[in-house]
Amino acid sequence: MSETSKPGNFITQIIDKDSENGKHGGKVLTRFPPEPNGYLHIGHAKSICLNFGIAQRYQGQCNLRFDDTNPEKESVEYIESIKRDVTWLGFEWKEEPKFASDYFDALFEFACELIKKGKAYVCELNADEMREYRGTLKEPGKDSPYRDRTAEENLALFEAMRDGQFPDGEKVLRAKIDMASPNINLRDPIIYRIRHVHHHQTGDKWCVYPMYDFTHGLSDAIEGVTHSICTLEFQDHRPLYDWILETLETFHPQQIEFARLNLNYTVTSKRKLKQLVDDGHVEGWDDPRMPTISGMRRRGYTAQSIRNFCERIGVTKSDSVVDVGMLEHAVREDLDANANRAMVVLNPIKVTLTNYPEGKEEIFTVSNHPKNEDAGTREVPFSKHLFVDQADFAEVPPRKWKRMTPGSAVRLRGGYVITCDEAIKDENGNVVELLCRYDENTLGVNPEGYKPKGVIHWVSAEHALDAEVNLYDRLFNHESPDAKHEDKTFLDFINPEALTVASNAKLEPSLLNAEPGVGYQFEREGYFCRDLNAERLVFNRTVTLRDSWAKIEAKGK
Ligand code: ATP
Ligand code: MG
Repeated sequence: MSETSKPGNFITQIIDKDSENGKHGGKVLTRFPPEPNGYLHIGHAKSICLNFGIAQRYQGQCNLRFDDTNPEKESVEYIESIKRDVTWLGFEWKEEPKFASDYFDALFEFACELIKKGKAYVCELNADEMREYRGTLKEPGKDSPYRDRTAEENLALFEAMRDGQFPDGEKVLRAKIDMASPNINLRDPIIYRIRHVHHHQTGDKWCVYPMYDFTHGLSDAIEGVTHSICTLEFQDHRPLYDWILETLETFHPQQIEFARLNLNYTVTSKRKLKQLVDDGHVEGWDDPRMPTISGMRRRGYTAQSIRNFCERIGVTKSDSVVDVGMLEHAVREDLDANANRAMVVLNPIKVTLTNYPEGKEEIFTVSNHPKNEDAGTREVPFSKHLFVDQADFAEVPPRKWKRMTPGSAVRLRGGYVITCDEAIKDENGNVVELLCRYDENTLGVNPEGYKPKGVIHWVSAEHALDAEVNLYDRLFNHESPDAKHEDKTFLDFINPEALTVASNAKLEPSLLNAEPGVGYQFEREGYFCRDLNAERLVFNRTVTLRDSWAKIEAKGK
């Protein structure tokens, strides 16, 4: 679907109205402004789809801008990962990526201008005093004793701050707005602070850094952003955003807030995701259990399915929690339509066909996709020795069993019908091998008079590839790991079964050339892709064939 034919939302309504009124001459410029202090997650994907999607819809432009005002927490690694993730999701920014730090000179000048207008002052209250003077939601704040300094004095002090004459925290620059404002954001907020730290972009040029609220609106103004879309928690900051732009008489983008994406069974906070990485609960930011874009990519989620999901959940003004099952559904749906099929036995048990000649080999031609002929066919070798999955055999079958059991027949997918005669056990009584007979008249046709009830997947033992298969599941086993829990944190809800490894999996040989990241349906098992990082043959389970959590949840209710 092209962007213009997609259904609109309350933001496109605002933009349509602006265009009708000739505001900005019909121009639309949005931006996606991550702080490079972590990897992007599924929540950011929503913001990316929204901002870049709007630019596409109106033939406008969306900037990628790094909001890099906190050098201690930021890094070039994060910057590079963010660029990779936006590109992988399928979006393009025009021109070079932008950085708030590109504007540090301009921002310093803007701050000086506020001082000259009598709208900012250097304050020396320490953090505790600052808190005390700020007041509370119920009580107004008190004016700082430094509030009435002259512009000249403030300017000289601010320049001295920039020139490194004071240690961290000794002085700050504050906007002079209203200490009695019911909106605490307007009670003379700090707009510059002293930090003697190296910055990944500007090196050691600065020891004063602008605060987020001051930087954000002015960066938007400098770039000529027409619609500055952000999440709901910034609604209370909008009056400050507006105050800064009005006081400085600059170009004035309109800030529009929408509800952030919350997903159940998921944590979407960079701080918490970083904790999972730093404390070793996962193997890294791109661990396939992580809700990061790089984790989802490595797990096998497609960019298309993430975009479809973001489209479906829509854009609203009220906070809600989306079922992660919807995301998994979007992944399943895309892979069902597009992933080639393959046969993989996760927990192998040997099958010997007693009436099949030793050393004989046949090649079956099997279609890659049951519903899409264009996907073509592949060759699957067959021989006397096979592997099937342990789960497909039961010595004493439950009722309605359709798979292997002594005395009954099953079809091997794409191959013959076989009948199990005997299960061979080891000294502990575990079944280690199944002796079966094949019926040579059943290749592609059902035998006269009966139709085997079940179809199972298999791999020829002599041709099989050995691989490790990571069976991933949801990282948290609680619906809202992030909520306030008595005595518990989100870490207590990590699902110990979020990763189990099938270390002895047997793959059909065509998978030797599987491209990393490309999805397959392993017949009857789920969707998988070859791991992007591993040098050996490792596959990751992207998602199961059906939503097994829905059943668990239904039971719990
Ligand atoms: P986090 O809370 O995970 O640290 P953040 O908001 O601090 O995220 P930023 O790097 O500032 O992270 O986010 C960049 C953009 O992505 C912002 O415009 C922000 O509003 C948006 N964004 C972040 N999280 C979500 C979310 N869950 N849903 C929608 N948009 C989001
Ligand atoms: Mg933020």
